[in-house]
Amino acid sequence: METTVTDHNRTESNRDVDLAKVKSEILSKYPTKVARKRAKQILVSPSGKGSTIPEIGANVRTVPGILTQRGCCYAGCKGVILGPTRDVVNIVHGPVGCSFYAWLTRRNQTRPASKDAPNYMTYCFTTDMQDENIVFGGEKKLKQAIQEAYDIFHPHTISVFSTCPVGLIGDDIHSVCREMKETLGINIFGFSCEGYKGVSQSAGHHIANNGIFKNVVGLDDTIRGGEFRINLLGEYNIGGDAFEIERILDDCGISLISTFSGNSTMEQFANSHTADLNVVMCHRSITYMAEMMEKKYGMPWIKINFIGARATAQSLRKIAQYFEDDSLTARVEEVIARELPPVTEAMETARPLCEGKLAMLFVGGSRAHHYQELFNELGMKTMAAGYEFGHRDDYEGRQVLPSIKVDADSRNIEELSVEQDPDKYRMRKTEEELSATGQAYREYDGLIPDMKPNTFVIDDISQYETEKIIEAVKPDVFCAGIKEKYIIQKSGVPMKQLHSYDYGGPYAGFKGAVNFYREITRMTNSKVWSYVKAPWEKDPELTATYAAG
Ligand code: SF4
Repeated sequence: METTVTDHNRTESNRDVDLAKVKSEILSKYPTKVARKRAKQILVSPSGKGSTIPEIGANVRTVPGILTQRGCCYAGCKGVILGPTRDVVNIVHGPVGCSFYAWLTRRNQTRPASKDAPNYMTYCFTTDMQDENIVFGGEKKLKQAIQEAYDIFHPHTISVFSTCPVGLIGDDIHSVCREMKETLGINIFGFSCEGYKGVSQSAGHHIANNGIFKNVVGLDDTIRGGEFRINLLGEYNIGGDAFEIERILDDCGISLISTFSGNSTMEQFANSHTADLNVVMCHRSITYMAEMMEKKYGMPWIKINFIGARATAQSLRKIAQYFEDDSLTARVEEVIARELPPVTEAMETARPLCEGKLAMLFVGGSRAHHYQELFNELGMKTMAAGYEFGHRDDYEGRQVLPSIKVDADSRNIEELSVEQDPDKYRMRKTEEELSATGQAYREYDGLIPDMKPNTFVIDDISQYETEKIIEAVKPDVFCAGIKEKYIIQKSGVPMKQLHSYDYGGPYAGFKGAVNFYREITRMTNSKVWSYVKAPWEKDPELTATYAAG
């Protein structure tokens, strides 16, 4: 029987593709300069653990004309970091299109403490700039918008986000915020996160971290929670992930003071400096905050991952190890022992149906790594992976940070100068005490060392490359975002969104793992995909070559 892209009963041998050849075929279609640049961003991973980790081109500008997965700086600031916080009125200063773009499209969920507690996440606040505001300036309109939002909702915090046109015409949102803060007597601050800043949404994450750190963290010194108090950083409550993580932490007796920023409030951010440990999930988007909090308040941070059952158990053990308390360790082990059996049962049911199948993951700045845990648990191989907005350290590991050159785009993002707070600094553990806990702090591994031999690692994959790699490798499932979803499905490959989970989830923690096993089993065993013909199976490709490089 002829094997096609849509044939899901493939054997392992017919996927034994020469990836170096695929890479050179892809590059051959680009102009010389573009091919040279993309060559550094497309790697065939080295042969297993112990191999030298190659340097990858990352966090560099996308070549104009290439259809990228990336979002803009504003999307990273407003949509990713501030989007899931419910008690702040987030006003987008710009055209309505930008506002809609970052309005709940990530399907963040939230649970207010009571029926009357504020939740503005369902609203889309915008100044809706028009031609005349671009010509004569939009500051007056912004002032009116802040006043209107205050009059209607009486929030305790309002934040303002600059979009591209605002940066171009030079509206000073910060002076408007200062003036309105004084007038209204509530916390009002702005983010200069114009879409064109930086090379991707990653710049917006950094700007958001700076803004929350400067304007909110440290405002409330009340000590809350129990004996073991942590902040969870880089968890955005997609599809209810935060609810599952909160359930598990609660069962373990670990108090969550604040999450940046899934299911979060500004009130929790204000109080977060009182916790004893920061645990970092998406290191790409939030390590700035962890580092600044350690410097100013003396709280160490540790990398964890609640995606995957084994990773969740390991992360809980890491937290317990930091606190060095026998009763906490015992309770964590109790929770793991209680939670794992149903997960193992679901894994054993799913595994025979998934084992040997191939996944591709192109998402975020840590998710393409985290989700490999779940695919490994199903016995599936991640054949290609990469980030939309990752930096070299996300691929190669944090140890490469000193060797990363700071370019003009990164210099464009403010680096806050942070000092020890004279009153609020409290060193939680000395370096000796930290190393006595027997684990590493302030570290994370890159994606490359965990990739299997003969797999692709691709930074900022384009639509063209996606199609070519699907054609060559024929994956059983492809994970990315909404912009890629329908192109991939048209190739006869099931596509799972990992920015919004489509309508599924949660996928974090123990119950989340079970949901994911079932979802992937269903998707990779569905016959429906065999009825879809990829465009290249139906129509011949029109090709051309560049006359000059
Ligand atoms: S790139 Fe600029 S115009 Fe486009 S959504 Fe982002 S902020 Fe708005």
